[in-house]
Amino acid sequence: MARIVVIGAGMGGLAAAARLATVGHKVTLCEAAPTHGGMLGRYERDGFRFDTGPTLLTLPAVYRDLMLKTGRTRLEDEVDLRPVDPGSEHLLPDGTRLALANASLARVAAALDAALGTGAGERWTAMLERGRGVWEATRRPLLEEPLPDDPSALHRDPYVPARRGLLARPPRTLADVARRELRDARLTALLDEYALRFGLDPERAPASLTSLPYMEQSFGVWYVTGGLRALADAVLRRCEARRVDLRFGTRVEQVLGEDRVTGVLLADGSVLDADVVVDDRAPASTAGSPGRFTLLLALRGTRPESAAHRTVVHAPDRADELDAVFGAAPRLCERPTLQLLRPDDATLAPAGHEAAVVTVTVPPLGPVDWTDSARTAAYADAVLAHATRAAPELGDRLLWAQARTPADTAAETGAPGGSVPPPSLAGADGAYLAPPNAAAPTGLFRVGGGAHPGGGLARVGMSAAVAAHLVGTP
Ligand SMILES: Cc1cc2nc3c(=O)[nH]c(=O)nc-3n(C[C@H](O)[C@H](O)[C@H](O)COP(=O)(O)OP(=O)(O)OC[C@H]3O[C@@H](n4cnc5c(N)ncnc54)[C@H](O)[C@@H]3O)c2cc1C
Repeated sequence: MARIVVIGAGMGGLAAAARLATVGHKVTLCEAAPTHGGMLGRYERDGFRFDTGPTLLTLPAVYRDLMLKTGRTRLEDEVDLRPVDPGSEHLLPDGTRLALANASLARVAAALDAALGTGAGERWTAMLERGRGVWEATRRPLLEEPLPDDPSALHRDPYVPARRGLLARPPRTLADVARRELRDARLTALLDEYALRFGLDPERAPASLTSLPYMEQSFGVWYVTGGLRALADAVLRRCEARRVDLRFGTRVEQVLGEDRVTGVLLADGSVLDADVVVDDRAPASTAGSPGRFTLLLALRGTRPESAAHRTVVHAPDRADELDAVFGAAPRLCERPTLQLLRPDDATLAPAGHEAAVVTVTVPPLGPVDWTDSARTAAYADAVLAHATRAAPELGDRLLWAQARTPADTAAETGAPGGSVPPPSLAGADGAYLAPPNAAAPTGLFRVGGGAHPGGGLARVGMSAAVAAHLVGTP
């Protein structure tokens, strides 16, 4: 039995602690904050409850596996998991409105043909088919297994372009794919939204990013009743059942040991001895990635039956938005691409009311002064005005709104710059690969969004499975 200290009770740390305690290790989990979940936070006020972080889940199989391996229960026994259908509704800059089905490429193609003209669905599906090729080529090394000792095979982009022989060079970036294969500004907006949502610049991200829309539109997107935070609660319960020693309000200052890990130094000056340390903190290298601006909306009156769970309102000026988030002088885009989330979930608001969330990808702390409260309030007004393009009644029904910025993410989770690490991708000479789970000194392992295979709940859950596998059984 190894003595293991896990640093951080984000989803990566919680999942790793549950797995390691289940196989018989003595696990102590040190969390600086007074609560668990990290970015999977909750804000409650006046009977309203909001997710402050993730609002949707892909690849629930990752958490199914966690529940089975740590307690032989089904994920569905622990949380009420619901497919989101339609998967998304879109309001495009030209006013086109369309709903894309969940987990059905055929229904997505039909909706695209109907809204954007015959042939749009075929072009989109053909591109996703190539995204499927990427998914199949990278699923194991980029999701299920440790990063190979020699990751150079993942430095190449496995995206196989259309009409390869006719083109001088295969597409290098997601933007190249859109220009050559989608050839429609509205389809491009749909594709770019995936990049933006994951904090990546479509002009630089490799074509392999097409695996993300393939995955979401093929396998589906899910919601948890009570909010995604209920998933963190379920994993915490599993840690408790497995007798993880949970220490909240316990900040780790330093990992100790030169060649081998010997323990951790806590903020109160005491030392916890350990044979293995599992670190869920995001590394400083993630500081430049974008963060999220989130607006929590307490609304008077019930949710309209016709409201979609997720509506994406696209930016009218895409080039301006990309320049604002990823350009040389990052700034706020006043009319950004945003997601309006309106779960049909009575547990989130007092009777006869609705809780909605708007979320936008924005520059991290540093380039933008997120501590300027007047600027933040003005930005909240601009984002809300933009969201009302999709749902004009929001403004009249607003009881109050609470803005949350990368400064809040940084303060609550320690994420450098309040950045949200993106998922790992193949291609671009390895520039989009997160660091491996095994680190130096011996006995140190990294989990969470800042480690292989990168950010997002599913990948963070996989980082815990991979790290637990590397630590091994007692
Ligand atoms: C607004 C927002 C929306 C998002 N939307 C989605 C979504 O819809 N779907 C999706 O899949 N993902 C989404 N994500 C990303 C997802 O939330 C993260 O990838 C994931 O939750 C990160 O988990 P983690 O374990 O890596 O780290 P974190 O959640 O950052 O947890 C790290 C933990 O370590 C603790 N810690 C830090 N320093 C110390 C220290 N020195 N000592 C002890 N403890 C320490 C922190 O307090 C924190 O609890 C979103 C993120 C945000 C912020």
